[in-house]
Amino acid sequence: MTAALLWALACTDAEALKRAPLPDLEAGPPLGLPDITVRGILFIEVDTLRRDRLAQYGYPTDLLPSFAERSWHQINGHSATSAWTLPSVSSLFSSLEPARHGTLAHLEPGIPTHPFASPSWPAELGASGWTTGLFTGNRWFSENSGLSPIFQTVIRKPKEETGQANLAALLPDLIAWLDGIPEEQNFYAHLQPMDMHDPYNPPPADITDVSGGEPLPFHVGAEGLARRHFESYWHEATTDDERHEIERGAALLYDAQIPGLDRALAELMAELDSRGLLDEILVVFSADHGEMLGDNGIGDFGHGIRWHQAEAQLPLLLLGPGIEPGVSDCLSMNIDIWPTIVSMIGVPPLSDIDGIDLREACRASVRGSVWDSDVILDVHGVASTDSALNRTCRSGRDRGTPLGDDADATERTRAEKLVDGEQLVSLLGQAYADIVTEKPQAECGD
Ligand SMILES: [Zn+2]
Repeated sequence: MTAALLWALACTDAEALKRAPLPDLEAGPPLGLPDITVRGILFIEVDTLRRDRLAQYGYPTDLLPSFAERSWHQINGHSATSAWTLPSVSSLFSSLEPARHGTLAHLEPGIPTHPFASPSWPAELGASGWTTGLFTGNRWFSENSGLSPIFQTVIRKPKEETGQANLAALLPDLIAWLDGIPEEQNFYAHLQPMDMHDPYNPPPADITDVSGGEPLPFHVGAEGLARRHFESYWHEATTDDERHEIERGAALLYDAQIPGLDRALAELMAELDSRGLLDEILVVFSADHGEMLGDNGIGDFGHGIRWHQAEAQLPLLLLGPGIEPGVSDCLSMNIDIWPTIVSMIGVPPLSDIDGIDLREACRASVRGSVWDSDVILDVHGVASTDSALNRTCRSGRDRGTPLGDDADATERTRAEKLVDGEQLVSLLGQAYADIVTEKPQAECGD
């Protein structure tokens, strides 16, 4: 196994790629955020939320109207360290690049080769007297991954159990937890709802609203459509018109999940308001990664696939006492959020981290510098060599996942082909590092 097998480029039909325009962003001036005194922090990290779906970031339709009406300070140019949950949130919590925290691959479903074990902001705050709580539908927050033990309280309600309205199902637990915290106690709540993650099951009324009266694509009536369904439809299609219709359907279903998210977020903000908490806490709104909806024109759906801007770009919005509403052009990554927060609230930073205080400087570049390329590196899940090869070196048509595939069996089969987790992590970590430093990219393996 060589690095070239795991991450390579330019072996798909480059002509077929729809190149998204590169963002026209410079580093930007440091964030003019003030020192603030807050009782608590609420971090809303919406799983799988594309930045370009927010009206604040240019989407023509405002799908989050109730939420957007708050006086946010918006940061442009924000990016994830990884295109899927496990490495991304590990980076957020540790301010370390994936190559350093090492929690970026798994040989068994749900069990990372290297469970998260780095010093983390949640654990650090907890040790210094803060009350910490995690409220999520994401299965990667578990004992096995090492991510749930860094919080004192963990409430996990998977989307499979709650249905589409994952955030709404988590809210009563969050509110009860907040109500139980004594007046003078500092707290940090991390909320990671799965409403935007596949399978897509938006309410029919929201599909109708978001479709704007356009006829619905043929597959939109089906429930529980997931990435593999769209890939399968796409690769079975025989004309570009059919493929465009499948891409339109995926985007419509994805978008139609946002109004429900907006309703739950509006309810959350109202609950905070009624308790006077919005005057006392810092609210951070972001995501762990985005979602591909066929954007590159070669049939990629989901995330953790390649370094496309649809997966990499994140929203970043801040709301809190003393924070002026406005927009900052600042290139930043999720490893920078916590160093910036603790700088604002006067808590000592973790030592030897990769993240920077954005009040001192923005980044000169982020991974967006390669996001029009064909780089493959995340390889969601097992990062199997055959999967990576498929995604990298064969034309898109050949790598559709057949409907009815047993995903777990597939993962197991792939895992059997990988014998060395250390080598896997080392290669993936190096791939991340190479992306950051923009090294010349490898040729495709032969
Ligand atoms: Zn995620």
